[in-house]
Amino acid sequence: MDAQWLAMPILQQLNSGVLVLSTDYHICFYNQFIERRLGVPLAEVRHKSVFDVFTDLPEAWLKRKLDSVVALNAPVFSSWEQRPYVLKLPHLRPISNVSDYMIQNCSMLPLLHPHTGETFVCLLIEDATDVSLYQQELQRNMQALQQANRMDGLTQVFNRSYWEQLLNAEILRARRYHQPLSLILFDLDKFKQLNDIYGHQGGDYVLVELSAFIQSLLRESDLLGRYGGEEFGIILPNTGLQGASEVAKRICRQVAAHPLHYQQQDIRATISLGVAELNPHRQQDVHDLVQCADLALYLSKREGRNRSTSYRDELRHYLQKITESAH
Ligand code: GH3
Ligand code: MG
Ligand code: MG
Repeated sequence: MDAQWLAMPILQQLNSGVLVLSTDYHICFYNQFIERRLGVPLAEVRHKSVFDVFTDLPEAWLKRKLDSVVALNAPVFSSWEQRPYVLKLPHLRPISNVSDYMIQNCSMLPLLHPHTGETFVCLLIEDATDVSLYQQELQRNMQALQQANRMDGLTQVFNRSYWEQLLNAEILRARRYHQPLSLILFDLDKFKQLNDIYGHQGGDYVLVELSAFIQSLLRESDLLGRYGGEEFGIILPNTGLQGASEVAKRICRQVAAHPLHYQQQDIRATISLGVAELNPHRQQDVHDLVQCADLALYLSKREGRNRSTSYRDELRHYLQKITESAH
């Protein structure tokens, strides 16, 4: 069977765009796929420069590609991930939040005229709008999942495991760039009592409200995480012990002065804090630094709560003495 007659009807019904250009970028042919979307009959633009018809074409880029197809007599591919579209065409979908235009993969192929030996370039345009839509949705879901993995479900501050990762990264960074780094640990005072009075839901409410309030007192670079039930940590990059201790005192004061309204009642919660700075002369890891802050926090509790203590090495001896005298 002579198959030549098949070419044109198939070309016209193809669900891909076919655009044929001369080596000096003039339009020789496009199929109905392009004609319908462009809304201009081929007869009107045949022999016109493609850059006059598709005025949004990236001219220098496309010329470079087309020239290389001709010079090397080899195809070139442009994926939608590199360039969302080559020809600015509507995608004929009623609604799409990806783009107003058809997202495309474009193959550029060299064509040799069998009789004249003249070279042409064929642009095969494939609609990739759906693919990019799915990909975007997938990415959104992955981001949401990643976000959920990092956050504490109740308070929406970082959860312990992610917060510890951040602390680890900040310790490495502080060491590398010889910058100070401090840590504040704090724990709600007499929280069991608070739960007893207002119920577990009241307790949860306090955790949520206080986290948000304390977050609002911090710089954007400070990293607040929930370390345990009613215990939280704040990483303060580029901050020495004195600066961190001032921040801790300010938080302590402001929390005590900030009543929380719960079911027509004012709940006044207080916190105890411990502050520690990364010691540049010691090889401390996350665990060591948390332990220092925890020890200082313990002393805040011991000395009456609603206060902040900064870690110094002498505190260890002091703590040893008081525990020895207790026995
Ligand atoms: P202290 O001042 O010594 O810290 O006293 P405290 O009562 O706060 O200390 P303790 O650690 O003994 O009690 C903590 C309480 O926090 C016990 C636990 O029931 C409560 N808690 C822990 N996680 C949550 C939570 O997610 N929601 C609520 N409502 N309570 C919690
Ligand atoms: Mg407590
Ligand atoms: Mg506790």
